[in-house]
Amino acid sequence: MDATGQNTDVLIIGAGMAGLIAAKELQRAGRRVLVLDKGRGVGGRLASRRIGGATFDHGAQFITTRDPRFAAVLEQGRQNGSVEEWCRGFAVGVDGHARWRGKPAMSAVAKQLATGLDLHLEMPVVALRRAGNQWRAETTTGRTFTAGSVVLTPPVPQSLAMLDAGGIVLTPELRTRLAAIEYERCLAVMAVLDGPSRIPPPGGLAPAEGPIAWIADNQLKGISVEPAVTIHATHTFSLEHWDRDRQESGRALLDAAEQLLGAGIKTFQVHGWRYSKPMRVDEEPCVLMSQSPPLVLAGDAFAGPRVEGAALSGIAAAEAILAKRRV
Ligand SMILES: Cc1cc2nc3c(=O)[nH]c(=O)nc-3n(C[C@H](O)[C@H](O)[C@H](O)COP(=O)(O)OP(=O)(O)OC[C@H]3O[C@@H](n4cnc5c(N)ncnc54)[C@H](O)[C@@H]3O)c2cc1C
Repeated sequence: MDATGQNTDVLIIGAGMAGLIAAKELQRAGRRVLVLDKGRGVGGRLASRRIGGATFDHGAQFITTRDPRFAAVLEQGRQNGSVEEWCRGFAVGVDGHARWRGKPAMSAVAKQLATGLDLHLEMPVVALRRAGNQWRAETTTGRTFTAGSVVLTPPVPQSLAMLDAGGIVLTPELRTRLAAIEYERCLAVMAVLDGPSRIPPPGGLAPAEGPIAWIADNQLKGISVEPAVTIHATHTFSLEHWDRDRQESGRALLDAAEQLLGAGIKTFQVHGWRYSKPMRVDEEPCVLMSQSPPLVLAGDAFAGPRVEGAALSGIAAAEAILAKRRV
């Protein structure tokens, strides 16, 4: 460890679902774990925001599970009160499969998972370097962190940028494989209404056409006291409008939603998700990039473009690190 640095067994970069689950698994196995995130809060794309008395989920809308390992995580969340069932499907396509929401909102799922972890927020990592038989992460704040193993969970292009800045050389095959992982963009509008919307219960709808991919009534969903809708634009609309004035793009989406809103707009904000969902998922649940010292890439680009996929990738990353250290 250098004079300004902090040393640990495993450094996890990213406190979204993948990073938090990996951290929990490794901590449970007795490893000293440290988690860094560039954000002011945990959760990454498990995101919620308040505007006055209105609450919005503006990233992931609901959580589903098919894998018993992630079902166990959700069950724990249900028991500790951070997760509850929202519904069993929406107007079109009630399929009986449970959709879970965070309680009081989506970010609570991540906050609960982060309990008991050694977490450093507002710590953007700019470079990851080899330092002898360890890894050294450098942040924009001038802090350094060294560790025997690292799990990188940001969206793949952001992880690659850190590796490139640290002079980590990838084989051409691996670079081609990782560079092929592209993400949809998503402009998300959060609007406070002056009355209830016309979105039917249980409060979510995916229009078949037009610029809106998804619209949700956060009051019907049970997370907002005031009438509040979240609108997610399609990838096509988001890409086309990415560099345009966000308020104007938000207004265009609200106009497109007029029939479903049925109420006046008190105020609205727009958030841009540059890395919303991976368009292509890698064939492995995580990538062990270096055997010694271990370096693993994880996140939803590896085990599925959903919250569950991110969690399963986090579990796979923890297993990969634990397997290495047993050798
Ligand atoms: C608009 C939208 C709607 C969605 N809807 C659903 C849905 O309904 N159901 C569903 O299952 N999934 C949904 N998803 C996908 C789901 O949110 C993701 O699959 C999942 O949350 C990804 O988790 P992750 O841990 O892989 O990545 P992330 O949540 O992105 O976590 C990565 C973390 O890395 C941090 N980070 C990045 N760069 C750095 C750096 N340089 N230094 C330090 N930290 C860094 C970020 O701040 C972030 O916290 C949606 C996503 C979006 C954006």
